[in-house]
Amino acid sequence: MQIFKNITELQHWRDAQKKLSKTVALVPTMGNLHAGHLSLVTLAKENADHCLVSIFVNPTQFGPNEDFDAYPRTLTEDLAQLTEAGADAVFAPSSPNILYSDISIPIQAPMAISNRLCGKYRPGHFDGVLQVVNKLLNLCGPNIAIFGEKDYQQLLLIRLMVKDFFLPIKIIGGPLMRDESGLAMSSRNRYLSPDQKALASQLFQHLTQTEKSIQAGSLTTSAQMASHCKAQITSLNKLGFEMQYYEICDAQTLSPLSEPGNSTPDNTTLIHNSNPPVILAAGYLGKTRLIDNIQVTYSG
Ligand code: AMP
Repeated sequence: MQIFKNITELQHWRDAQKKLSKTVALVPTMGNLHAGHLSLVTLAKENADHCLVSIFVNPTQFGPNEDFDAYPRTLTEDLAQLTEAGADAVFAPSSPNILYSDISIPIQAPMAISNRLCGKYRPGHFDGVLQVVNKLLNLCGPNIAIFGEKDYQQLLLIRLMVKDFFLPIKIIGGPLMRDESGLAMSSRNRYLSPDQKALASQLFQHLTQTEKSIQAGSLTTSAQMASHCKAQITSLNKLGFEMQYYEICDAQTLSPLSEPGNSTPDNTTLIHNSNPPVILAAGYLGKTRLIDNIQVTYSG
């Protein structure tokens, strides 16, 4: 596995792949890798000749009171895992200034999507994500880029950016990977105490209950969905979470289905008329922020 610390080395490799007509799939990460990240590497290898992974803790996506300084940086272990997983190359810039400086040109994520859900609680977060992902896509010039469905809102915004900027890159979403308790894998799970870890899978369990209620047809109006989501927040807060949001949304547009006013005139829901919904939730458990989602499927 080749490791590039600067742009010249990276682009030299990328140009060589182009000359050989080899396709490249990029997996952008912030490091501290776990099985969720590695599943994206597997997907990359299935979809392209070579898998390139970037490791960069992006300062622009952290708010002033967030955990940028404390974010776990474990490059040696990450490289060992990527070698094992069969990645071909890693771009791990030696300095944050390679990708970002004070004169970098900002990108503003479309507000209709970026001001809601996670964006409402992390102002500027998605602007920072798009700014650095845009740079990575331009620098690495992959044929394909792979992002996890764990960060559902992020994936949707990246798809929009790539379409809007006419970037010739196919975006693939990788399924959300969970541990045996159902907890969505995340680099931040290492902040959880053993007691918090035991509680954390309740988030997934609540989402699963909601999914079953939707599938069973017992959540059909936006009013029913709104009161169900409110009850789920109350239940999670009672367990010890500090929930920020719990919403049922259109999976393609993220428009909220669980908001009064989004029902059809006879007050039956949009669900069966539109895209299948996605249930998204985020909240704190102690000092750790957890996010999760389930895309609802209908059988038959
Ligand atoms: P991060 O290092 O947290 O920025 O994540 C890098 C990429 O891995 C992003 O596209 C995430 O959506 C994805 N990712 C993180 N956790 C998971 C997971 N549990 N399952 C699938 N993909 C994930």
